[in-house]
Amino acid sequence: MAVPLFNTSAPLAAIDAEIRAKVAAILDAGVYVLGPEVRAFESEFAAYTGTDHAIGVANGTDALVLALRALGVGPGDEVIVPSFTFYASAEAIPHTGARPVFCDVDPDTMCITPETVKAVMTENTKAVIAVHLFGNVAPVDEIEALGVPVLEDAAQAAGTILEDGRRPGALGTIATWSFYPSKNLGAFGDGGAVTTNDDILAETIRTLRFHGSRDKQTFEMVGHNSRLDELQAGILRVQLPHLDGWADGRRAGARHYEEAGLGELVTLPKAAAGAKPAWHLYVVRSERADELRTALNDAGIGARAYYRTPAHLQPAMAEWGAGLDLPGTAEVARTNLAVPISPVLSRAEADEVVAAAR
Ligand SMILES: *Cc1c(COP(=O)(O)O)cnc(C)c1O
Repeated sequence: MAVPLFNTSAPLAAIDAEIRAKVAAILDAGVYVLGPEVRAFESEFAAYTGTDHAIGVANGTDALVLALRALGVGPGDEVIVPSFTFYASAEAIPHTGARPVFCDVDPDTMCITPETVKAVMTENTKAVIAVHLFGNVAPVDEIEALGVPVLEDAAQAAGTILEDGRRPGALGTIATWSFYPSKNLGAFGDGGAVTTNDDILAETIRTLRFHGSRDKQTFEMVGHNSRLDELQAGILRVQLPHLDGWADGRRAGARHYEEAGLGELVTLPKAAAGAKPAWHLYVVRSERADELRTALNDAGIGARAYYRTPAHLQPAMAEWGAGLDLPGTAEVARTNLAVPISPVLSRAEADEVVAAAR
């Protein structure tokens, strides 16, 4: 039995008719940009995340750039970011004129820690980007206690919840989301959002996403054209009520792996203290990761490594990243391997993965 790395089609099949009806209704209405679907999605997503404001934007990378700009990040500033993340987390920083300062991760959670942040903080640190990597949760409260605003990159953490009921997106000063199709909440194209409880930051994001104008007449800032469109917002609205069920399915998939004995063969990912991750990717560690990937792929099982070359070693980051010593990053970059996870991963599939790995 083949087991794919992701399975987004099975969960969506159950709501296919509803999605098609929504698309047809939007075509009938003929409003495609910043209309009623975007407004409704923004209020529903704010309620879901437990924030006062959600602002739809074009994608998760723009969300990061706009959020950094709203925080006042600019030339002369430093922004701390993990190197072990999708490249976009770091790429957003030079777009503001600021300098990315790479910090290490805890190999067990694959997220940053107060210690790794503190090790690189300076008087020029303007913000910290805390990436909730693979759906796990970075310790935002402890990092904000260091006295610096935290931007949560929650692109991979839709559906994750804390034991105290709070969700990613509501933990720091501002948070960014991606609705790229493979994410836990995926549009049928690009999409993104910013969430925050801060009225002024929210107003600034709304202005920045429309060319720096509030009224389409006066342009107060050099802004961006970065909007979530009506079709994507409508499709996301149909999916949002299912997100928690899908997240439960991802957590059940992780339990299947534990019960099937995957932890005897590789190091399993560790949920951060107090977190119930909606594993976007289920990423194990092994000294024999490449050999294991080949064996799994040969057995028809999706498996691949992520971020083997971490952000600080990418050519475009050479000015800021060359020569840094980030031992946790080096370890996870070398040993990680994502194995199949989805809202519908069954115990039989987990058994199959474990048998092939064995
Ligand atoms: C996907 C992702 C992004 C970028 O989102 P896009 O919508 O593809 O621009 C940023 N950060 C992380 C951690 C991501 O996984």
